[in-house]
Amino acid sequence: MGSAIDTLRESLGTISDLSRASSLLAWDERTQMPPGGAEPRAEGLSTLARIHHERLTADELGERLDAAAAEADGAPYESAEASLIRVTRREWEKARKVPASLRAEITRTTSLAEHAWVKAREDSDFAAFLPHLEKVIELRRQYVECFAPYEHVYDPLLDDFEPGMKTATLVPLLTALRDGLVPIIERVAASPQLDDSPLRGHFDLSTQRTLARAVLETLPLGKGEWRLDDTVHPFATAIAPTDVRITTRFDTGYLGEGLYAVMHEAGHGMYENGMPAELHRTPLQGGASMGFHESQSRLWENWVGRGRPYLRWALPMLREHFGEQLGDVDAEALYRAANRVEPSLIRVEADELTYNLHIALRFELEVEIFEERLELADLPDAWNERMETYLGIQVPDDAHGVLQDVHWGAGAFGYFPTYSLGNVIAGQLWDSAQRAMPDLEERIERGELAELNAWLRESLYRHGSCFEPLELIERVVGGPLDVGPLVAHLDAKFGELYG
Ligand code: ZN
Repeated sequence: MGSAIDTLRESLGTISDLSRASSLLAWDERTQMPPGGAEPRAEGLSTLARIHHERLTADELGERLDAAAAEADGAPYESAEASLIRVTRREWEKARKVPASLRAEITRTTSLAEHAWVKAREDSDFAAFLPHLEKVIELRRQYVECFAPYEHVYDPLLDDFEPGMKTATLVPLLTALRDGLVPIIERVAASPQLDDSPLRGHFDLSTQRTLARAVLETLPLGKGEWRLDDTVHPFATAIAPTDVRITTRFDTGYLGEGLYAVMHEAGHGMYENGMPAELHRTPLQGGASMGFHESQSRLWENWVGRGRPYLRWALPMLREHFGEQLGDVDAEALYRAANRVEPSLIRVEADELTYNLHIALRFELEVEIFEERLELADLPDAWNERMETYLGIQVPDDAHGVLQDVHWGAGAFGYFPTYSLGNVIAGQLWDSAQRAMPDLEERIERGELAELNAWLRESLYRHGSCFEPLELIERVVGGPLDVGPLVAHLDAKFGELYG
């Protein structure tokens, strides 16, 4: 007879297989599936989700957890056994708190609200979306109540994406970030604009695909452990640490679109690719939180990919594919083009500097909604006012304002702050990486990216999701979350670029 830990691992392996099957179906849906597959695919996915939930909330799993906990009694907090038991118990208890009827109601309502959002955005008609949004938020409030008592009404929402994170921690952090960014953006706005014409023109689609593959081949991803496909909204997913699916989209008029979507998604992919084999088929496999995941995509996209050393090294590779367009472009011109700052209406098009103000705006509105300080009917006005204050931009209509993102229709409240958290964490990680490797930038300029990946594997990836984000940041950088390194990085970089 095996040990109690092995018996627990057996249950967890089945649960993990079910969610990996769902990931594969979802990847296929967004990259390969013909439109006719939509309805049967939704049925398949919902069946898998139901079985997954039944397994995760089963009494049997609780019994196996208790037996494993008794067996591992006294194991150190950091050990694989103690982490497995701690994280599984947390997930098991959390999943059991929400009645199946409420889960089903949320799934049904958000699916309808998402469809309504598509139409409302097309028509720029917030009033048509409002009743759906009201229902979604009402259900989210019921969801929050499943976790009473809580410190703050927004905490249970955050916890789905950042385990253990508290609103009380996040509010001062993101306010400090906003206050740090506004003066930098004001100085940039008052300076002459950078020229991004080197990245604009006509860039043939199939050559861009070949280039994207060439870029991925130079990144420290395991050989034979990834693939690249086209999609509408780029994402990365791992069916296993050795089976990473990267997706991107291309714009034939702008080379930066496909290039940086690939770098971004590859960052997510490298995190998954770096998971230790012993965490495989357990809840410890995968990123520690959405924020930590985003720290990896942002680190590779912005700190590496939009950095001067990388672009100096990458220019010959870009010229190899687009000699006609880039023949006369030098590395400095490419660096300036890749870092042009332009306050924009649309979050997903935002540059490295203004991006976090889009997040600040959404985070503040979400907290105000759940604190019942903001009426939903007043949401468009509140949105437009803040766009003007933070970014100096007039919103022409709700399609380009409050209706631009799918998240609220999909019920994903608590998700947006993880984007900024990712940037904050990336800043701290980059700082630590530079201290550990004083010649990091010289190495990148020689195209030696494996060392950075090795440092990330050793410092971060090997922990999987053993620790909550606030514990993990302490372990990796030796201090708490801190916006200082991010603000200093942006101030130095754009201060120099914009004189
Ligand atoms: Zn991302």
